[in-house]
Amino acid sequence: MSSECVLDVIIVGGSCGGLACAHALLKTGRCKVTVLERASSISAAGAGLGLGQEALAILQGFGLTEQLDKISLPLPTELNTAVRPSGETKLLQRDDHYNHRSLHWSDLHQALLSALPEGLVRFRHTVTSSEQPEGSQRVTLRVERRASKDSEETESLQLECDLLVAADGSMSATRRRIRPDESRRYSGYCAWRGVVTDSEAPKAAAAVRRAFPDMGTAIYFEIAERTHGVLYELPRQRLNWLWYVNQEEPPLKGHSVTVKAGEEQIEQMRKGAAQTFRPEMAQLMQATPTPFINAIFDREPLQHLMQGRTVLVGEAAHPTTPHALRSTNMAIMDAGCLGECIEQCSGNVEKALRQYEAQRLPQTTREVLFSRHLGRVKQALDSSPDWFKAGQEQCEGLAQANMPSFRWQDQSQEAE
Ligand SMILES: Cc1cc2nc3c(=O)[nH]c(=O)nc-3n(C[C@H](O)[C@H](O)[C@H](O)COP(=O)(O)OP(=O)(O)OC[C@H]3O[C@@H](n4cnc5c(N)ncnc54)[C@H](O)[C@@H]3O)c2cc1C
Repeated sequence: MSSECVLDVIIVGGSCGGLACAHALLKTGRCKVTVLERASSISAAGAGLGLGQEALAILQGFGLTEQLDKISLPLPTELNTAVRPSGETKLLQRDDHYNHRSLHWSDLHQALLSALPEGLVRFRHTVTSSEQPEGSQRVTLRVERRASKDSEETESLQLECDLLVAADGSMSATRRRIRPDESRRYSGYCAWRGVVTDSEAPKAAAAVRRAFPDMGTAIYFEIAERTHGVLYELPRQRLNWLWYVNQEEPPLKGHSVTVKAGEEQIEQMRKGAAQTFRPEMAQLMQATPTPFINAIFDREPLQHLMQGRTVLVGEAAHPTTPHALRSTNMAIMDAGCLGECIEQCSGNVEKALRQYEAQRLPQTTREVLFSRHLGRVKQALDSSPDWFKAGQEQCEGLAQANMPSFRWQDQSQEAE
C-alpha cells in the first residue's frame, strides 16, 4: 500500500477487542481509525482474566509493556484438583508451563484506552445499521449519537468507511446482518463471580492463602460434584473466583449476560458454597461483598468471518465459554492478525480480509469447541465421573495445554 493510500476504518465496539483492533490498525500507519461505542464509559467494570504469551506479545507490540508489568501478575501454573466440602482434595493435573498473566478486565481496558489518541473513541455512538451497496467499495453506517450520559436525546448520523470492523460483542448486530438465521447457545450453567481484596475479607483471604500455597502464581480449578470453581489472584491483593452452577437459562435484560443477584439468591449461594467446595474457598465466597452472576453462552463457529468490507473480530466473531480463558486472548489475537493482513495486502482490503479469515477461523473454531468441551466435562453434563478415582489420562485431559491438539471435527460430529 502506498503511503497516500489511507484506509478509512470504523470499528464498532470500544471494549477490549475493538480497542486492540484500533491499536493494531494504527500501527500499520495506513489506517485512519474511528471507534464507535454505544456506552458512555466502560472501564470501571468486569473481573479477572488471564492472558497467554501470544496475546501479551501483541499488546507489547502496541507499546504497552510497562503498563502490563504494572497491572498484571505472572500466572505460570495451572492446577486442577478434585475437592469435597469436608476439605478432602486430590490433585488431578498440574502444569507449570501454563505461562499466563492475570489481570483485571478494567485495568486492561483502561491501558488500551489511555494509549489511544484522544477523541479516537467516540462514546455514546450506537451503530444501528450498516450496508455495502452493490458495486461500492464503501460501507455506509447509520449511527445514533446520544447528547450526554443521561440524555434520551439522540442525533442521527450517516458515516462511511473503507473497512468496517465489527467488535460489537457476542450479541453483535453486525453478525446478525451477515447471519440472521443463527442464535446463541446457552451452555446449561451460569457463573457466580466475585473479586475480594485482602482488606475486605482479611481472615478469609489469609485462610485461602494458607490452603492454596501457590496462590499468586497459579490458577486453581476446583472440581466438585457436577460443578467446578476457579480461583486466582489479581494484582493489588485481589482474589478472583468463579463458581459454575448447572441451571435453567435465567431471564436476561437487554444486551447484558450479567444478572444482578438479590439478597436471597446471595444467601443461597453462600450456603451452597459450603456444601460444595473446600471450607477456605467457601468462606472466601461467603465473604465477598457483591458477587454477581453471568449466564454462560457461546455460538456455533461460523464458516466466514467477513462479508465484503465488513469483518468480525472478538466475541462478535466467536463468542466462547470461559473455560480456556480464550475470549480476550482471541480478541487480541484477531486484532494482531488483522493488522498484519492489512499491512501485507497493499491496499487490497478484500484480500487482507480473506487472509485474516483463513488464518483465524480454524484456530478460533478449535478454541471455542475445546472450551465448550472442557466446560461440559467439568460440569459433568455428559457423564459424571468420580474424580477421586480418575485415571491419569482422564486427569491429563483437563489441561488447557490440550487445546492445540484438540480434534474439534470429531467432537462436533459426536455432538450431532
Ligand atoms: C463491561 C464489560 C466487562 C467485561 N468484563 C470481563 C471480565 O471481567 N473478564 C473477562 O474475561 N471478560 C470480560 N468481558 C468480556 C471481554 O471483554 C470480552 O469477552 C473480550 O475482551 C472480547 O471482547 P469484545 O471486545 O470482542 O466484545 P465485548 O467485550 O463484548 O464488547 C463489545 C462492545 O461493543 C459495544 N457495542 C455493541 N453493539 C454496539 C453498537 N451497535 N454500537 C456501538 N457499540 C456497540 C458494547 O457496548 C461493548 O462495549 C467484559 C466485557 C464488557 C463489555
